[in-house]
Amino acid sequence: MPEFVRHVVDGLAFWRADELYARTGITVAFSERMGGVSEPPFASLNLGSHVGDDPAAVDENRFRLLSALGLGDLRSRLTCAQQVHGTRVMHVDEMLVGAGGRALPDSRPPIAGVDALDTTLSATPLMLFFADCVPIVLVRPSVPAIAVVHAGWRGALSGIAGMAAHVLTSAGGDDDIVAYIGPHIGACCYEVSEALVSQFSNTFVTLAPADGRLDLAAAVAEDLVRAGVPMERQKRHGMCTADNIDRFFSYRAENGLTGRHCAVAAITGATF
Ligand SMILES: [Zn+2]
Repeated sequence: MPEFVRHVVDGLAFWRADELYARTGITVAFSERMGGVSEPPFASLNLGSHVGDDPAAVDENRFRLLSALGLGDLRSRLTCAQQVHGTRVMHVDEMLVGAGGRALPDSRPPIAGVDALDTTLSATPLMLFFADCVPIVLVRPSVPAIAVVHAGWRGALSGIAGMAAHVLTSAGGDDDIVAYIGPHIGACCYEVSEALVSQFSNTFVTLAPADGRLDLAAAVAEDLVRAGVPMERQKRHGMCTADNIDRFFSYRAENGLTGRHCAVAAITGATF
């Protein structure tokens, strides 16, 4: 079985780690952009409530995605963060369940100022939002525990993926952490300043101070290895968002005015 399997439910597409799901009941998925109700430039499955889209459309889109994943009953427990390209990892306990999950104007706000969420609670979907940045989902089936991480260049350079991995491994249990790395902008399309590339190559030995292109995935991979997630337990989706704006939102390729796809994870199945 391939690591990520593309599913299409009523015109809505997502990639799920099916082997993990079959073995543990833990859902790890990355959404595509079709099958929702948002109008351009957010067409159509925009899940981000902070980009100027109609809140009712975002709320409906999130529900459609959860339903397609078989998680529609957990709508009120969906938990989201207001991401700031920082390095804070927030542990989601029962008090925080449901924060930011609904997108309506009078809904409970998302958890502010964090770029990673982790939990050991079952039936609690964690969702973060992306348009080129690197989505990372960390899973420890033996606990079970999950974390969802947002890493743009600031987060990748600061090592947020490794920080979240440390949080998950410090909880005891077997040495079974696995990282699922979703669609993001590839080095093929990510031209940045020479100064930024050299900042990265000073921090990460596997990044060559090359041609003004930045390989965020390589930085995240090295960060995760240092945090105890070997390469063979890092599963990469591999598609470039900027090259595939028919499927994904791309901040770069769409000049900053676009929607957000998501990474979502939930401990479900046998424990749900
Ligand atoms: Zn590309």
